[in-house]
Amino acid sequence: DQISIPYPQSNGAGKVGRIPVGIGRRRLRIVVTGGAGFVGSHLVDKLIARGDDVIVIDNFFTGRKENVMHHFGNPRFELIRHDVVEPILLEVDQIYHLACPASPVHYKYNPVKTIISLLITNVMGTLNMLGLAKRIGARFLLTSTSEVYGDPLEHPQKETYWGNVNPIGVRSCYDEGKRTAETLTMDYHRGAEVEVRIARIFNTYGPRMCIDDGRVVSNFVAQAIRRQPLTVYGDGKQTRSFQYVSDLVDGLVALMEGEHVGPFNLGNPGEFTMLELAEVVKETIDSSATIEFKPNTADDPHKRKPDISRAKELLNWEPKISLREGLPLMVSDFQNRILNEDEGKGQ
Ligand code: NAD
Ligand code: UDP
Ligand code: UDP
Repeated sequence: DQISIPYPQSNGAGKVGRIPVGIGRRRLRIVVTGGAGFVGSHLVDKLIARGDDVIVIDNFFTGRKENVMHHFGNPRFELIRHDVVEPILLEVDQIYHLACPASPVHYKYNPVKTIISLLITNVMGTLNMLGLAKRIGARFLLTSTSEVYGDPLEHPQKETYWGNVNPIGVRSCYDEGKRTAETLTMDYHRGAEVEVRIARIFNTYGPRMCIDDGRVVSNFVAQAIRRQPLTVYGDGKQTRSFQYVSDLVDGLVALMEGEHVGPFNLGNPGEFTMLELAEVVKETIDSSATIEFKPNTADDPHKRKPDISRAKELLNWEPKISLREGLPLMVSDFQNRILNEDEGKGQ
C-alpha cells in the first residue's frame, strides 16, 4: 500500500524520501503515469536500469501489462491500476506525466467519448499530478506534443512559435488538451512554485507501439508484415520527422535532470514525406509491398519538423538514431506480436 509506506511528509524540498545509492547520487523514487504505454515503458526500463525506484500509474486504456511485465517481482518496481483523473496520494521525488489517450483511431471511431476522456485526462489528470507535485515538493515533467503547433506556418518549428491550431477541428481535442496541460503546468510553476519541465514530443516510433492505433509508422510496419498494402493518406506529400524511442527517453531524462523548464522540442529533425516513409518501410521489411492511397483526415498538418537548437544547447541532447537505423529495431517486436495475434485467432 503506497500511502502506508513510512516516509515522512515532505517539507517541500522533494528530497525527504531519497535513499543513498552508490557514490555521488541518491536513489530516487519516481512516478511514471502512463508507464505501461509505449514511451512510458521504455522510460521505466531506463529508470529501473539506473537504479531508481519506479511507480507506474496506468489505467490500461491503451497501455499493456506486457510492456512492463519484465519488472514484476523487482522490489524497486510497482504498478498501480489507477485513472489519473482521480486524486492519488504518494511520496515521490519526480513525476513523469505521460498518461493520455493518445491514439488517433479512437478519435474517429468513438469521437465524443474519446474527446471527453482526452480533455478530462489532460485537465484533471494533469491538475492532480501538479497538485501531488505541489504537496510533496516533487519535480513534474509534462509530455506535451508537437501538435500544439497545429498546422504550422513556421517551419521548422521553434519553441517560441505559438502554433496554428484550429480550435473547432476534428483533431483539436488532442491539441487543445495538451495546450491546456501546458497552461496548467506553467500556472502551477508560477503560482505554486512547483518545479516543472515541459517536453514537446515529435512523432516517435519503436518496439511496443500499439499495433492498431492508427499512427503511420505502426500502420505501415504492421501492413508490410501482414502483406497488406501500405495506406498512404492524401497525396502522401505531407511530412513528419520520426524519432526513435530511445532518443526520446534520453531527452526526457536529460530534461528532468536539467535546470531548464522549457518547453523543449524533443524530436528528430530528419524530415520525410509519407511516400518516403513508405519506401523506407518497403526497403526494411518487404520490397514488394504496394501502396494504396486513401482520403486524408481534415486539418492534417502539412509539414512538421522540430528545431532542436534549444535542447542541443541547454540539455546537451540530440537524437542519435536515424529512421533507417531505427525502423529495423521495431520489426521483430511487431512480427512476434502479430504472429501471437494470428495464433490466438486460430484457437
Ligand atoms: P500510449 O498510448 O502508448 O501511452 C499512454 C499511456 O497512458 C497508456 O499506457 C494508457 O493506458 C495511459 N493512460 C491513458 N489515459 C490514462 C488515465 N486517465 N489514467 C492513467 N493512465 C492513462 O502513448 P505514447 O505514445 O507512449 O505516449 C506517451 C505520452 O507522450 C502521451 O502523453 C502522448 O501524448 C505523448 N506524445 C507521444 C508521441 C508519440 O509519437 N508517441 C508524440 C507526442 C506526444
Ligand atoms: N491532489 C492529488 N494528490 C495530492 C495532492 C493533490 O491527487 O497529493 C489533487 C487534488 O485532489 C486536487 C488537485 O490535485 O484535485 C490539485 O491540488 P491543489 O492542492 O493544487 O488544489 P486544491 O486541492 O487546493 O484545489
Ligand atoms: N498517415 C498515412 N497513413 C496511415 C496513417 C497515417 O498516410 O496509415 C498519415 C497521416 O495522414 C499524417 C501522417 O501520416 O499525415 C502522420 O500521422 P500520425 O497519425 O502517425 O501522426 P500525426 O498526424 O499525429 O503527426
